[in-house]
Amino acid sequence: METNKIPSADAWLREAKADAAASGCGMFLLHNGVVRRSAKARVRAGDADAPDVRGMRFSYDREKTAGFCGATAVLKAARAGLHLWEEPSISGENGAGTVFFSGCGLRCVYCQNYEISGGAAGAEITVSRLREIFFELIGRGAECIDLVTPTHFTPQIAEALRGGLPVPVVWNSSGYERVETLKRMDGLVDVYLPDFKYSDPAAAKKYSNAADYPSVALAALREMYRQTGPLRFSEKGTLTRGVQVRHLVLPGNLENTYGVIDAFSSLFPSGEAGFSLMSQFTPTPACEQYPELNRRLTAEEYEKAVDYMYLCGVENGFVQELSSAREEYVPAFDGSGVLPQADRPPKADTI
Ligand code: SF4
Repeated sequence: METNKIPSADAWLREAKADAAASGCGMFLLHNGVVRRSAKARVRAGDADAPDVRGMRFSYDREKTAGFCGATAVLKAARAGLHLWEEPSISGENGAGTVFFSGCGLRCVYCQNYEISGGAAGAEITVSRLREIFFELIGRGAECIDLVTPTHFTPQIAEALRGGLPVPVVWNSSGYERVETLKRMDGLVDVYLPDFKYSDPAAAKKYSNAADYPSVALAALREMYRQTGPLRFSEKGTLTRGVQVRHLVLPGNLENTYGVIDAFSSLFPSGEAGFSLMSQFTPTPACEQYPELNRRLTAEEYEKAVDYMYLCGVENGFVQELSSAREEYVPAFDGSGVLPQADRPPKADTI
């Protein structure tokens, strides 16, 4: 794409989709065409300087009793394996070496990982076993170590990462994290892959019971960027450093999405952080209580969100095929890869 021309949003999207079809991937990178920046889009950004980051629902005082996140102080994970469904710059050719931790401090009503976010599924492991898992995944060709919902286990994970790893470490989190917590990972995490779910406190309250999510997440994103600086890629195109923000478009909540895109484009210098606009919303049983959420995203809604991203001049943005809204992207949380080979129940070996 010639960067000195201003193509239409449709042409921009068509070109990106053609690239995706050629690569066989359902998620694709929009070319770096900073095109125009709407003045209106800059106005609604939240306050990233908010010093008060109370409200996170986990603490490190959980000795034996599970906290809101569903976890105790003992490490627990539900699956460890190579995962091909992250952004191409994370999964690369071989897949991300992903560890899904049990429990989550947010508990969104639409959580696709609800089997594990409540903390029930999974096996308890030691810090040294976690480090062993990292090397097992690296031995299988993992492009990175991808830590999913890690925040409530920050101290244990920090310990497991001491000594470093030969591949990038990816912190794949909800974005609802204290700045002080993230500071504990400074120098240990190479790539932050946070969600940025809400700009609208009312939606954050309604779906995740966390009205302070927008201000907390903005402060967290700023800290992540302070640690990593701009995006850096390996020769083969995988991320080695930086912040890649994700936003799942919720049905019936486009204003929330517009506000997220506004805030993202105000917070980061153009092109220095990535943005993934996710279309894969799939209603969970809990969504039955929220009629607006109890359906898939329409093509029209997603196109409006993509257009808005275009209007805001977001560079390094990933979009998805709407057909990505499928349950298959959620792996089986069967404990595979978590326990040492000798300790695994026979069934887990055959899954
Ligand atoms: S933050 Fe993610 S893992 Fe946690 S409850 Fe929400 S959707 Fe599920």
